[in-house]
Amino acid sequence: MSRISREEIGKIQMVDLHTQYKNIKEDVDKGIQEVIDSCAFINGPAVKSFAKELATYNNVNHAVPCANGTDALQVAMMAVGLKPGDEVLVPVHTYVATAEVIALLQLDPVFVDVDPELFTIDVKQMESKITSKTKAIVPVHLYGQCADMEAIMKIANKHNLFVIEDTAQAIGAEYTFSDGSVKKAGTIGHIGCTSFFPSKNLGCYGDGGAMLINDEKLANTARMIASHGQSIKYHHDIVGCNSRLDTLQAAVLRVKLPHLDTYNKNRQKVANKYNKAFAQVQEIETPQNAENSTHVYHQYTLKVNNVDRDQLKEKLQEKGVPSMIYYPVPLHFQKAYCKSEFNEGSFPVTEQLSKVVLSLPIHTEMQENQQDYIIQSVLESINELA
Ligand SMILES: *Cc1c(COP(=O)(O)O)cnc(C)c1O
Repeated sequence: MSRISREEIGKIQMVDLHTQYKNIKEDVDKGIQEVIDSCAFINGPAVKSFAKELATYNNVNHAVPCANGTDALQVAMMAVGLKPGDEVLVPVHTYVATAEVIALLQLDPVFVDVDPELFTIDVKQMESKITSKTKAIVPVHLYGQCADMEAIMKIANKHNLFVIEDTAQAIGAEYTFSDGSVKKAGTIGHIGCTSFFPSKNLGCYGDGGAMLINDEKLANTARMIASHGQSIKYHHDIVGCNSRLDTLQAAVLRVKLPHLDTYNKNRQKVANKYNKAFAQVQEIETPQNAENSTHVYHQYTLKVNNVDRDQLKEKLQEKGVPSMIYYPVPLHFQKAYCKSEFNEGSFPVTEQLSKVVLSLPIHTEMQENQQDYIIQSVLESINELA
């Protein structure tokens, strides 16, 4: 392979939403125009249609749309009836939203460290964190693959806990149980919460989210809570909030959902190429794929060993290759979530990951020569630092 120059590549982005849009422009523009023509901006017909299509795609009885992924988590916790003081197990290596809504509802987030290879909640450490106050577990399907849901459901059933899956990064991933049955991410626990933030695997053109729910009663409660606690207009039976998916966003999502599997396959192709290119590089540990889950690579996250991760990031930036750190500060060191008993060493795996993880550009429209250039830049940067 001859050396690729920066000039022939153009701007490299973590996510290329513009090229993706250009490939579906006609359908998206038509969907948006229809909403504007109808002026049904709130709860228009596209919202209902999308909810049905999303449920069908996920093979789940109900999909309840809402305003964003954070709201999905909040409404889910309200819907299962969690009360102030209840303890909720949550991985400490995650996006802040997962813990934020727990705290917001005056529940007590109980952090659990993660598996060093899979980055998802360490099921071996979960049971020791359960007390008489524990009421729920919120596994996060981080970077695009499922947490060990079979083990989690077993523990949840034994201790009578709700399971609320944060599947904001893993829509479309599939989990295989030991009996061979397969379920989509977010449809295994009581409620699965997802996000349609533009850069997510199924992203809209603003904010959006949804809950995936099999139980009809629970789905109705969640739907009511997201709509001011009403099922009949102006009759408010329970305390709710205002969390709606815009009709315009639903119209965009209806166009994109049929492409989701192709989008995820494209991400997997990019990941496989990275895996091959870095297989022999000892400074780089490529992401490990769980045995029981497919990986939809919302992020392609490396562990950088023996060279300084931050220096590598800088070198890449100099070559025009963006990279990101998910997440640079563990939740137990965040001012808002720090408890007096936390210190260096409280969650050693997460602390170590915050120093070594690095996510490379991955998206649905990655061109071969762009990825070749990224790979070349990583290899050259490592050589310069080693
Ligand atoms: C994106 C994300 C959320 C929040 O979704 P929003 O739509 O931005 O509110 C929650 N959890 C995880 C793991 C996420 O990646």
